[in-house]
Amino acid sequence: MSHQVARTAVKSVIYDVIVIGSGPAGLTAAVYSGRALLKTLVVAGTVSGGQLMLTTEVENFPGFEEPILGPDLIQRMTKQAQRFGAEFVQEDATNVDFRTRPLRVKTASQTYESNAVIIATGASAKWLGLDSETRLRGKGVSSCATCDGFFFRGRDTVTVGGGDVAIEDTVFLTKFVNHATMVHRREELRASKILQERAFKNPKISFVWDSVVEEILGEKKVEGARIRNVKTGKQNVLKCDGVFIAIGHQPNTGIFQGQIELDQKGYIMTNQGTATSVEGVFACGDVHDFKYRQAITAAGEGCRAAMDAEDYLEEKSIHVH
Ligand code: NAP
Repeated sequence: MSHQVARTAVKSVIYDVIVIGSGPAGLTAAVYSGRALLKTLVVAGTVSGGQLMLTTEVENFPGFEEPILGPDLIQRMTKQAQRFGAEFVQEDATNVDFRTRPLRVKTASQTYESNAVIIATGASAKWLGLDSETRLRGKGVSSCATCDGFFFRGRDTVTVGGGDVAIEDTVFLTKFVNHATMVHRREELRASKILQERAFKNPKISFVWDSVVEEILGEKKVEGARIRNVKTGKQNVLKCDGVFIAIGHQPNTGIFQGQIELDQKGYIMTNQGTATSVEGVFACGDVHDFKYRQAITAAGEGCRAAMDAEDYLEEKSIHVH
């Protein structure tokens, strides 16, 4: 019984800002919030760092002339936030209550209270769910052409998906690759017409219609993909060095359902900067931005969210320290 009480205990401290999430958006928010002398807690998650933790070399984050590994970049941002006094808890937020004041964020072991909350829980790439896909992730299987396209210079790739992102990614890949094949499960693309035209005109892109990838082949690195035509059942192997999965992203907003306004796809709606439908709750990064989805854009939004939270606390005169 005493154990149960401890598990749901409310921490006696009230924070100025709780940041949920520890990718570039959340960590930048924590740097700004800490540096504004706001008492800041980062609920970093059990798997912290966000999508950069799945990336190898980051070459497009300004300030790093030489590539920096995604996890190293995250570690630096974390230390920078800690330098300004941000506290970290390595647990997942399991529940929130935005109807109360102070706002409440719960983990498995604690309930934390705060006058402002910044949501930076990001989005996760959807995967096909194949064992071979998991095994070869980072070894030729990727969900981010912008991050990894450069490594496929002169090689052949397969992209799975038929939406805007699949087309944009594949067109981007043609800057580097010898040939890019798009494998789509229907005979019609979902992508906007203008993007479709761009792909159809590109001599480096070919299409395999009505088909799904059943297995990604290769032991230590990708060597091909086994494809099945869903209409005829016919299978064949496409030789390739990389497989890009572009079948959509899923915003990590499960715990916010019913608490703040989400769009049809589950992304957090924002207005007037980073404000959400709940006063005192702000959102930044991929959890609401499905378009740009870059570390640098997420970081920029993290900065905006912290500044918006600071303004809000000033306006309401509920600055704790
Ligand atoms: P999306 O529009 O949802 O497209 C996902 C694609 O993946 C669809 O073609 C879908 O096939 C396919 N797919 C889904 N699950 C699959 C599975 N298990 N196996 C095989 N294929 C699967 O997602 P998105 O391309 O990531 O785009 C997300 C949002 O961002 C969209 O609203 C998009 O318009 C927007 N966006 C806009 C721009 C732009 O305007 N320039 C750029 C990027 C993104 P079906 O078609 O058969 O469903």
